[in-house]
Amino acid sequence: MSSTSTTIRSILQSTTLDRVDAKVLLYYLMDLHYRWPRSYLISHDQDDLSEAFIRDWISLESQRQQGVPVAYLTCSKAFHQIDLIVSPDVLIPRPETELLVERGIATILAFIQSHPNDFNPSQRFNVLDLGCGSGAIILSIANALQHSPFFDSLSFIASDVSHGALQIAQANAARLSLSSSIQFFESNWFDQLPFDHFGIILSNPPYLSRDDPHLQVGDLRFEPIGALSDFADGLSAYRLICSQAKHRLISSGSLLFEHGFAQAQDVRALLHNESFVKIHTEKDYSGLDRVTYAQKG
Ligand code: GLN
Repeated sequence: MSSTSTTIRSILQSTTLDRVDAKVLLYYLMDLHYRWPRSYLISHDQDDLSEAFIRDWISLESQRQQGVPVAYLTCSKAFHQIDLIVSPDVLIPRPETELLVERGIATILAFIQSHPNDFNPSQRFNVLDLGCGSGAIILSIANALQHSPFFDSLSFIASDVSHGALQIAQANAARLSLSSSIQFFESNWFDQLPFDHFGIILSNPPYLSRDDPHLQVGDLRFEPIGALSDFADGLSAYRLICSQAKHRLISSGSLLFEHGFAQAQDVRALLHNESFVKIHTEKDYSGLDRVTYAQKG
């Protein structure tokens, strides 16, 4: 090895990137170029790297320096128990959203336990993810339940208004071998959905207001604005979904939302005004109100 060669070690010593970001980008390139496992970051850190590797590294490093999210550079994000393909067509799944997934799974299990005779392949329980983006929510739920005895009684439906997002969600379903379990629809909320009678509706809609300063910082600058903001007061999607969901839910069906940390009261009021009952709010790992859910009254 000559003193001027480029190695994992020399890259890590000289880069100005955040160390964790640099390592994640190196793992990605190690796998892409050499199929190296992560442990080679240490055990092969003095191996000479190929010109193609170095060229790709320089490109990723510079894009990251300009703020492009790591997940868009590696085209992937770990979420709940799965790995998702992501692109600039979809919001990068957040750890907070795992709370909505967990509440969704618990709600489905509770419904099944309290209605044991209603579950059979001829009377299916429909699970809907409105505005599915990458498919993070619906795919995590289907993945977690796929080995349960009642899986065949569940129907999974997901919709998004963005054609590009649906292509990513479908690619994720295929990668997880869940394509045959989930129906995807290009739809503005409920508008183009061909059926109803949902047992549970989940949504992480755009909830930042038009002038939310967060839109100007960090990863959000690169994410699809339509997945982040309603271009209004941040509550318009909740108003619309609350008013329409009650006509689309079965009796004692549930509506579950993720929302901004300061929106719990407003979302609860909207649910209450539409006669939903058993309204609960849960805090995320940072102690902030993040998920609110209720039952059709
Ligand atoms: N949770 C996202 C954020 O970090 C917003 C997602 C959304 O609008 N649904 O701001």
